Amino acid sequence: MIKHSGGCHCGRVRFEVLAPAEITVSECNCSICAKSGSLAMIVPAARFRLLSGADSLITYTFNTGTAKHLFCSHCGIKSFYRPRSHPDGVSVNVRCLDPGTVTHMTIRPFNGQEWEQQYPEGRAPSFPN
Ligand SMILES: [Zn+2]
Repeated sequence: MIKHSGGCHCGRVRFEVLAPAEITVSECNCSICAKSGSLAMIVPAARFRLLSGADSLITYTFNTGTAKHLFCSHCGIKSFYRPRSHPDGVSVNVRCLDPGTVTHMTIRPFNGQEWEQQYPEGRAPSFPN
């Protein structure tokens, strides 16, 4: 495990996350991921630490309302959020990580358009990172 850091575009939201240097990320085709182009690195919440910007975050929800999509209210970037698949975890957008700490990235397509068929038990069974 190493420490990665990242944040939103304007710099108000900053975080640290513990994860391997070689990570596995999801490229999801659901209605929101496809439009935002984010790549998701999902970790247990205990390995994520928000350093600044809590007062700049706004929450957007849709469909079941389980996922908490957190956007910077100033620059509009969603650098991390609480995913429906891992409500006890954090999904970090690896496009928002500072460069230099990820040595390899395995990108796995995720069919979020048919989310219920991927996770019939209502959530993912384990953490990919
Ligand atoms: Zn921002």
